[in-house]
Amino acid sequence: MAIVVQKFGGTSVADAEKIRRAAARAAEAHNQGNQVVVVASARGKQTDQLVADALELNPNPPRREMDMLLSTGEQQTVSLIAMALDQMGRKAISFTGSQIRMLTDDTHSKARIKSIGTDRIRKKLDAGHIVIVAGFQGMDENGNITTLGRGGSDTSAVALAAVLKADVCEIYTDIDGIYTTDPRIFPAAAKMDHISYDEMLELASLGAGIMHSRAIEFGKKFDVKIHVRSSMEDKPGTLISQEMPEMEGILVSGATMQKNLAKIGLIGVDNKPGNAAKIFAHLAGARVIVNDIIQVEISKEKANMSFTVAKSDLADAQKAIDEIKEQVHCQSVFVRDDIAEISVVGVGMRSHYGVANTMFKALAEGKINIDSITTSEIRISCIVDQEQGESALVAVCEAFDLDKPAEKRS
Ligand code: ADP
Ligand code: ASP
Ligand code: MG
Repeated sequence: MAIVVQKFGGTSVADAEKIRRAAARAAEAHNQGNQVVVVASARGKQTDQLVADALELNPNPPRREMDMLLSTGEQQTVSLIAMALDQMGRKAISFTGSQIRMLTDDTHSKARIKSIGTDRIRKKLDAGHIVIVAGFQGMDENGNITTLGRGGSDTSAVALAAVLKADVCEIYTDIDGIYTTDPRIFPAAAKMDHISYDEMLELASLGAGIMHSRAIEFGKKFDVKIHVRSSMEDKPGTLISQEMPEMEGILVSGATMQKNLAKIGLIGVDNKPGNAAKIFAHLAGARVIVNDIIQVEISKEKANMSFTVAKSDLADAQKAIDEIKEQVHCQSVFVRDDIAEISVVGVGMRSHYGVANTMFKALAEGKINIDSITTSEIRISCIVDQEQGESALVAVCEAFDLDKPAEKRS
């Protein structure tokens, strides 16, 4: 029997009517002869509300307690969906992450999944139940509740689809698929029918809020077919799958903007073997996730180094750098949190030239200064002033014709 995992995001379960609609979709997939696992997020803006409640009492809440609190949002949704299904005369049962042994490491607020138990789910599926699992949450080996990072229900869903060897993982959301960029900023953005795991992984890591990047990592590793689609309409969305030969021809698939980044610069670090290792080992010890790193030799003796981190990690990163800076004879440290990173992504960049040129020209014509540039095989990113972020993204989208479907771009 085929297994289908259906994930419903916050807006798709925001009120009773939407919960009923999500339940009906699950029931419909079950009617079609599938075993159905639903993964749900907290309703509407509930996670934001819980964060605000916590901050009102403590501006720096212990991460363990934060996870205890935030996990309650998803627990409410799953029980409500089970109740809605029961009302429809269906067999349904909800589980928290801990109840299905969604085991993670102990990094509260950004835990990584280590293993998932499937026995309890399989037993209920085989007995004809629709199983509803709370997204975003797990448990460490000591039984503490953990969460996977904001937007992490996508990752719960794809990871479950992987361990259950599901036929498809459907991500139901408030938009009908993945667009070339966030349509809230560039309303003319074009919808994609298909995108490769590699491109989507880059887009998601670079700020495309539509999917949690870890979800795409799981998808790629375990070859899970991911279908991102609307919970309001019944039309096909966007399929995330392995790269297909025709994708090579697409120069730029999408563009993103990230504003939740900060940049730390270390000026005049000793240009000696082992210094970068020391700095980044120390940051890793502080559990800071480092994004792009740039190091430039400025003389035989000295080098400048800079890197970006999520703003939520900035305080930990600054503390770690303060502790290590004297050991590496760093002359000064600077921090910027007023930046935006604009990126373009496309597998076609591997085999085409001129992408960087088009991007830099578009920014120059928009009178947008580029603070720093980083590239990978399939992406180019520029850091610009935060206040120019939106106009920079629009300029880049226009330069690459991201308002047109891939086959119609020049
Ligand atoms: P959910 O609560 O269902 O997980 P999210 O808010 O996390 O939904 O993700 C959906 C939103 O992602 C859309 O409403 C859209 O504004 C935003 N988004 C950002 N980038 C993109 C993109 N490239 N394509 C489509 N939507 C995007
Ligand atoms: N409820 C969590 C959040 O708002 C997880 C999710 O929606 O995926 O971030
Ligand atoms: Mg989401």
